[in-house]
Amino acid sequence: MAKKIDKLAKAAQNTWNLKPLFVGDDDPRIERQKKQIEERSYAFINKWKKRKDYLKDPAVLARALDEYERWMRDCGTDGNPGYYFWLRSQVDRNNTELKAKYNKIEEFSKKIGNDIQFFHLRISKIPRSLQKKFLGYKGLQKYRHFLERIFAESLYLLSEPEEKIMNLKSTPSYGNWVRMTSDFLAREERTVLLENGSSSVKPLPEILTLMNCRKKNIRDTANRAFNDILKRNVDVAEIEINSILANKKIDDEIRGVPRPDLIRHLSDDIESGTVDALISAVSGRFSISREFYKLKAELMGVKQLKYHERSVEYGRVEKRYSYGEAVRLTKKVFAALDRQFADIYDGFIRNGQFDIYPRKGKGSGAFCVHHLISQPTYILLNHTNKLSDVLTLAHELGHGINNELIRERQHSLDFGTPISTAEVASTFMEDFVLREVLRRADDEQRLSIMMMKLKDDVSTIFRQIACYRFEQELHHAFREKGYLSKEEIGRLFQTHMADYMGDAVEQSEGSENWWVYWSHIRQFFYVYSYASGLLISKSLQNAVHRQPAFIGKVKDFLSAGLSDSPKNIFAILGIDISDRGFWDKGLDEIETLLQETRDLAFRLKKIRGKRT
Ligand SMILES: [Zn+2]
Repeated sequence: MAKKIDKLAKAAQNTWNLKPLFVGDDDPRIERQKKQIEERSYAFINKWKKRKDYLKDPAVLARALDEYERWMRDCGTDGNPGYYFWLRSQVDRNNTELKAKYNKIEEFSKKIGNDIQFFHLRISKIPRSLQKKFLGYKGLQKYRHFLERIFAESLYLLSEPEEKIMNLKSTPSYGNWVRMTSDFLAREERTVLLENGSSSVKPLPEILTLMNCRKKNIRDTANRAFNDILKRNVDVAEIEINSILANKKIDDEIRGVPRPDLIRHLSDDIESGTVDALISAVSGRFSISREFYKLKAELMGVKQLKYHERSVEYGRVEKRYSYGEAVRLTKKVFAALDRQFADIYDGFIRNGQFDIYPRKGKGSGAFCVHHLISQPTYILLNHTNKLSDVLTLAHELGHGINNELIRERQHSLDFGTPISTAEVASTFMEDFVLREVLRRADDEQRLSIMMMKLKDDVSTIFRQIACYRFEQELHHAFREKGYLSKEEIGRLFQTHMADYMGDAVEQSEGSENWWVYWSHIRQFFYVYSYASGLLISKSLQNAVHRQPAFIGKVKDFLSAGLSDSPKNIFAILGIDISDRGFWDKGLDEIETLLQETRDLAFRLKKIRGKRT
């Protein structure tokens, strides 16, 4: 019996403790809470829907926002029931009963969401002349940036009937085109070679995985299959991409948007000037990614890497980490950075906020999730003792620590992070943990790990920025010429890829069509955010390496949530992120790592020259 209890206690530690929400799927409090959410929500809706005074008098708006903030803190549209069933369905995916319960609560939440939407919409329609008065009002300072975000969105909004038309036509003029190409690609299959030497018909996702196989004949066959799929679909993609470029041009003209990437910047709460500085800093240092590929080609013993071979892993990372070891290692690193980081970590462990191991029915991958400011954070892992699992743990904990720091200082309407900085905390923690791993590894292992890290950094920063510039030119060229042939698009694409890859990577035949598959360019200018998050993180790492006390400023930044734009938050810390120099400091970190890697490879006699 005692043994059984022990086992249960252990199992409880390895999976989420959802008791702060509910004790089980049939907890009678679930229905009671749904009733309370309904009552709270409709009390707010019925009170403010009839009134107009809060759109004219800032003192009244302050009162309305206080009520709205409390509603968002305590329940929002779905409260504990929504969060609970979402979490439950992540770890028990085949449970149809759970799915039904979650669908019901989602429906419940949608109805309230639609009914309370008027509040946001009406605030966004406050005339420009009055907006200033509202933003300057003392009693509204707490909500200043919340209002600024709503007002900024409304800058390019049209009248209500016009917005309705825009909304209705968006599916046939944009969404369906994008879906068409991705559906066509998803239907494709080809015969490819497998790891075990046999050959078999496989769909696109598996072909993509095989393209990174260590065995050359396997990855080459996969690449031939992939290129064949793209070639077969490129004519359709040409018409698709021209249509969505046309649609975007029409939208921008109707709304009076001066540049194609502006709407993206507005919705990410980042100034165009800041993104411009980022793009110019990264593209000004493409020499780093070019040098990386040169080193990689040399290590792989070839003159030039084929386009599809540039991400094939170099060496092998053998060391295994039990979950206990992973926790000890990460905690040591966090504690050395700041005591509070380790305390937050301890709290997560004590309260059972991790779901650690893979099991049947549980989703793959990893995430860190938060919902309302009044609810606990939860982290899902699939720990299998690999180095990448240790880094994933550090990454998700970074998100978790970020949540707790925001929770401490912000109200519920500013609880969150803009997309442009969402990955700062996670990559910051990940990189510090990697440093510790490297410190403990022998030279051969260290070289493999450093090459892996550089590969990831190069794809996150240089490749994404090259893609952003490709997108900029695509929109520009389309607006100038009116139509772009697949050959023209292919040439533009290869120019930008060659720009960051340099001579050590061949722009192999067939790679001119890889834009067909790149789904992010259909979301318009999203890709910069991968680079901005990681580079802000690296710039902060650079500052902490030089001066450990700088961690205090890092915490200030991480606590700010949505209370101001990233630019203003950094300005308070004395940092100007619209200055190229800020981004250059992040890039220095990668250049240093590249130089150390090259030196190590030389010392291990893997390459001939120390410098190129
Ligand atoms: Zn992340």
